[in-house]
Amino acid sequence: MLDVAMALEIVVRHAAARKPEMTTLAAAALGQVLAIDVRSDIDSPPFTKSMMDGYAIRAADAASPVELVVIEEVPAGTVPTKYVNVGEAVRIFTGAPMPDGADAVVMVEKTQSQSPDRVRIDDAFVKPGQHVLPRGTEMRSGDVVLPHGTVLTPAAFGVLASVGMMEFSTIPTPHVDILATGDELVEPTRTPGPGQIRNSNGPMLFAQTRRAGAIPRYLGIARDTEASLRLKIEEGLTSDVLILAGGVSAGKLDLVPKVLADLGVKILFHQVKMKPGKPLLFGTKGDTLVFGLPGNPVSSYVGFELFVRPALRLLAGHNDGEMRMRTLPIAATFAADNNRPTYHPAKLEAGTVRALPWFGSPDLRGIIAADAFIVLPPGSINYLAGQPVEVISVL
Ligand code: AMP
Ligand code: MG
Repeated sequence: MLDVAMALEIVVRHAAARKPEMTTLAAAALGQVLAIDVRSDIDSPPFTKSMMDGYAIRAADAASPVELVVIEEVPAGTVPTKYVNVGEAVRIFTGAPMPDGADAVVMVEKTQSQSPDRVRIDDAFVKPGQHVLPRGTEMRSGDVVLPHGTVLTPAAFGVLASVGMMEFSTIPTPHVDILATGDELVEPTRTPGPGQIRNSNGPMLFAQTRRAGAIPRYLGIARDTEASLRLKIEEGLTSDVLILAGGVSAGKLDLVPKVLADLGVKILFHQVKMKPGKPLLFGTKGDTLVFGLPGNPVSSYVGFELFVRPALRLLAGHNDGEMRMRTLPIAATFAADNNRPTYHPAKLEAGTVRALPWFGSPDLRGIIAADAFIVLPPGSINYLAGQPVEVISVL
């Protein structure tokens, strides 16, 4: 049986970034990855500008006090028309271009003015360049301001706008179809009858898909018959990724592996040395990645975080898989005994990680507070507080 690392390696090998597509500033999604180098078409600021409301002067004229002649007023959005000579000042506002001759701005709070054409400066220590932002400080025309691979954060949208980049190519956001399977399942809107339970995995995997930055579509519930599975799976195989929940164990009605194989899905592994979620399946058909997650809710949850999420990140052009693994001291003594490596729900707390009370794969409620899972090695373990443990964070 494959261990988690080997299984993940197989998934990673099949999860290449999608082909770039053109998009627009209005349509691009937060978190998408830029597929081109974006260059600036401007200097920013485009002119040397004042960063304060006050007076543009020659720094050498400053004294406390000294009276200067105000020769002009320059609000933002206008341009100065006069040269500032010795003994002169220009009334200036934040964002307005600096007049020639002046090399510093004295903020209005350090001045007094009784009439529009005179100002008294009360600042003896004015350095050349004070409160002045030279042209091109932020960027120069031709600079690569956003290299390919940049994640579109809100700041990146601002930079795209400031360089007038209205159309550009990004890695498209992957589409994920989600299919629940099982004769016992009813939609959450219904009250379960005898022997029935609500489909909790559907909405959960939908939300996990969104959290991973991909676009989910819910395909409903397939019954434990080949015909029902076939119908829904065929639909899901048109997507970038198909996630199935349930029906991958060894039971008589666990028909998912057979139907997938019948539909031409190449099964690359089925079973991983882990707990919860051993019967996890991964395959491909063309460019579509197929994950069969065991139906127990926490098995589905952990299977998604360990294998589906890294795949979705790679399809979307990200490479942030490694960031989620780390070693932390455990917050309190903790004992366990498992026959396989076990992913135990945990909470990150001030540089440590605390194991949460949890009774196993059906205990979805037990992982509500979990922002991480501790990876417990197989066998009997007895951790003392402070002992380092391997952790995968899921937020
Ligand atoms: P399976 O993997 O189909 O053998 O299912 C394992 C367990 O998970 C069974 O107790 C199922 O009833 C339960 N289960 C399967 N699918 C879901 C689902 N979508 N929502 C909640 N529980 C499920
Ligand atoms: Mg089932």
